[in-house]
Amino acid sequence: MSKTLSFAGRLQLVKATLTNMQTYWCSTFLLPMHTIRQCECLLRKFLWGGHGRGKVKWSEVCKPLAEGGLGIKDMKTWNKALLLKQIWAVLTEDTLWVKWCQAYLINTSNFWTIPARGLLSWSWRQILLLRPLAREHLIYKCGNGERFSLWFDPWLQGDSIHALYGHRVIYDIGLGTQARVKEMLREGEWCWPQVSSDLLEIQQRVGDITVTTNPDLIFWGRVGDTFSTNRAWQAIRARSNEVEWHGVVWHSKRIHKHAFSLWLAIRGAHRTRDKLMTWGVAQSAQCVFHCGEIESTEHLFFQCPYSANVWREVLKLCNITRPILPWANEVQWMTEHAKGNKFHHSVRKLALAATVYHIWIERNRRSFKNRFLPYQELVKKVRVDVGGKLSISNHSQRSGWHHSLCVNWGIPLVEG
Ligand SMILES: [Zn+2]
Repeated sequence: MSKTLSFAGRLQLVKATLTNMQTYWCSTFLLPMHTIRQCECLLRKFLWGGHGRGKVKWSEVCKPLAEGGLGIKDMKTWNKALLLKQIWAVLTEDTLWVKWCQAYLINTSNFWTIPARGLLSWSWRQILLLRPLAREHLIYKCGNGERFSLWFDPWLQGDSIHALYGHRVIYDIGLGTQARVKEMLREGEWCWPQVSSDLLEIQQRVGDITVTTNPDLIFWGRVGDTFSTNRAWQAIRARSNEVEWHGVVWHSKRIHKHAFSLWLAIRGAHRTRDKLMTWGVAQSAQCVFHCGEIESTEHLFFQCPYSANVWREVLKLCNITRPILPWANEVQWMTEHAKGNKFHHSVRKLALAATVYHIWIERNRRSFKNRFLPYQELVKKVRVDVGGKLSISNHSQRSGWHHSLCVNWGIPLVEG
């Protein structure tokens, strides 16, 4: 089925359907690495339309749009984020499932100290194993001390008393393991028995924690924020630098299949003949437009005389007169000169993507079907696509000084 859909369509489906399936399974189990790899292999195969047809590394595809990827979430991290949600539920919610966990899995112990060994279900064990990650992001804010466990909840500068001082202080105080924080409070002040050097130190450390009459609260990430799977995912995912060009590709008025083609071109991922030749797939790397040069991304966009003719005409339609630049500089130029959402910015971005798309289609037509379109025909196709797209939006901007752009692109003018 993936073959009958455009790439943009497949990307939509991967994101919607398959990620929903994965959300369902992942939020119950931490999938083993082997399973994750197999699932990702399926997603990959579907996205690229067959095995071994991937044009960009999966780890790159899984980056957010702003970081140069396609915004698919990588399963391993997403799975963890979904399981962190279960931890958040156990700690803060009052659902039937949480009550059940409290009654049967935690019982008189504390979530933070129950061992991850023994006769546990596999999924519960996986949740327990994620506790250190959860603790990095959870904030326990003491209020009246009625809810937090004195010994085991990490309310003291991100740690628990037990984690910092061990069992000894628990014996020294003699309150038992069920004690709450409030038992160390007298009339709104901290009041730790001063019977050991550890306890002296604790009394000092808690001095920074203001006691209030509010309930104890747990936050995620920073004080005031609750948990969201997306926020968790943002917090635990690997980050890369933003790419400057993402706005040129993924703007709100984009034509999906054009945007995708442009994304591939910017990433240098189109399977041009120079690559096919080094892989031993093609006999010759000669440009299909018969200019005598080698076909590469650089050459196709837009150094080849054929492409250069198309692009020069398209620039003219955008009212731009400048020499054609090397590909990286063309992208850079667009990043700088088509940044906003103004009418002429949209025209430029749409024009670039449409040109890249139609040149690539024409190149394939020539390679596989041996049919030829003169460059003027390509310019017409670009004009129809861009003009058509802009005719159905931007109503408020289509007047006055955009007059000549509208005429160039065949966009009906709006009165007033
Ligand atoms: Zn050429």
